[in-house]
Amino acid sequence: MKQYQFWFVVGSQFLYGPEVLETVAARAAEMAEKLSAVLPYPLVYKVTAKTNQEIADVVKEANYDDFCAGIITWCHTFSPSKMWINGLASLQKPWCHFATQYNREIPNEEINMDFMNLNQAAHGDREHGFIGARLRKARKVVAGYWQDEDVQRRIGDWMKAAVGVAVSKNMKVMRFGDNMREVAVTEGDKVEVQTKLGWQVNTWAVGDLVKVMDAVTEAEIDGLLDTYKASYDFATDDLETVRYQAREEIAMKKMLDAEGCMAFSNTFQDLWGMKQLPGLASQHLMAQGYGYGGEGDWKVSAMTAIMKAMGENGNGASAFMEDYTYHLVKGQEYSLGAHMLEVCPSVAADRPRIEVHPLGIGGREDPARLVFEGKPGDAIVVSLIDIGGRLRLICQDIHCVKPILPMPNLPVARVMWQAEPSLTTGVECWITAGGAHHTVLSYDVTAKQMKDWANMLDIEFVHITKDTTVETLEHDLFLSDLAWKLK
Ligand code: MN
Repeated sequence: MKQYQFWFVVGSQFLYGPEVLETVAARAAEMAEKLSAVLPYPLVYKVTAKTNQEIADVVKEANYDDFCAGIITWCHTFSPSKMWINGLASLQKPWCHFATQYNREIPNEEINMDFMNLNQAAHGDREHGFIGARLRKARKVVAGYWQDEDVQRRIGDWMKAAVGVAVSKNMKVMRFGDNMREVAVTEGDKVEVQTKLGWQVNTWAVGDLVKVMDAVTEAEIDGLLDTYKASYDFATDDLETVRYQAREEIAMKKMLDAEGCMAFSNTFQDLWGMKQLPGLASQHLMAQGYGYGGEGDWKVSAMTAIMKAMGENGNGASAFMEDYTYHLVKGQEYSLGAHMLEVCPSVAADRPRIEVHPLGIGGREDPARLVFEGKPGDAIVVSLIDIGGRLRLICQDIHCVKPILPMPNLPVARVMWQAEPSLTTGVECWITAGGAHHTVLSYDVTAKQMKDWANMLDIEFVHITKDTTVETLEHDLFLSDLAWKLK
């Protein structure tokens, strides 16, 4: 992953004389350095901005710089906002307005009018906030003392969401074949998606993949088998089947890397010349940070890759998931998520097992796959849909549990959860909003981060929480539909 950084742009003006400006610059540099030590990405102090030209220049530079994933602004002193208009109007990177203050306390003896003129963020940040509102620019406002951990965590969470925007703007998806025939929710307007989210979504022939697979050497497969052995238990003697998955993985990775694609999709309806549906192959690619969507679902594939990049270490616990079946016992209501094969082992509670079983769908040979239970913990499920004329991102809070049954004859990885506000109301809300059966399930990207991500990219966001009711959701969706049509 690219070495992203954020730029610290501090507002001031000439009114106070050079001494104050030197103090502001020195403090801003100190704050950037100290914050860089605790934030997930470096914060680079760029300028104490005093003129329209300085602001326009730093914004132009930020727009142009591939490593700059966003700017964080703050006004140490008052900074008249008309001089920010030209710069902010042309800003194309995510923007966070950090309303903070260098000193924590108001000093009793030391405070006089010089102190007041130097330390007037309370004053300056309001002027700065007005112009953000007036320009109707997407921005995140974070207020609090810069040395407080909870404040730093909020800035850090926003940084990861902004990196998700940068990853989105560079996302390329490789589709092997088309979408599953007749399925509606996996379709979508690729031109709209590219305009809004930046994704380049294109198709490659499965026959071309088979050619690359045929050229994979036994030595390459031996090497990947060693990696499998280091990461997974082998619960099969059928090594030839596992080797075939390794061949598929190596070939897909070669094609993805040659095109710079971080996400891919395939479908069991188009496996021309392939002996097995990729199972272990897709799972191990996801473990390396690639996004995947089954049945040609390129939207969930790209979302998986983006949310992985937003998570810890660039491959957080985020997985392609599918709602499969329910446990509807009163007081013990759970959803069971899985897929035919392809669940990412980043969400596994324990070391996954490689198993080989028949697959009733697709009419190919028995594929090898990783089988495991998902770990317990709070999580979200996320679905991006094309609602016609715009994109809607739906997010639901869930609580994953250790599966309440061992299910010894279920030959796939599985995750069990309780959805908010309850299974049935949650399902009613999800279905009312049009959420898909495919989702990204994430333990380390939060709903707040997904909301920030949606805001930065100017798409609709719907959040189903413990407080959501069907009635309020229907009302919100109705108003939202009107608002987005007017926008
Ligand atoms: Mn599916």
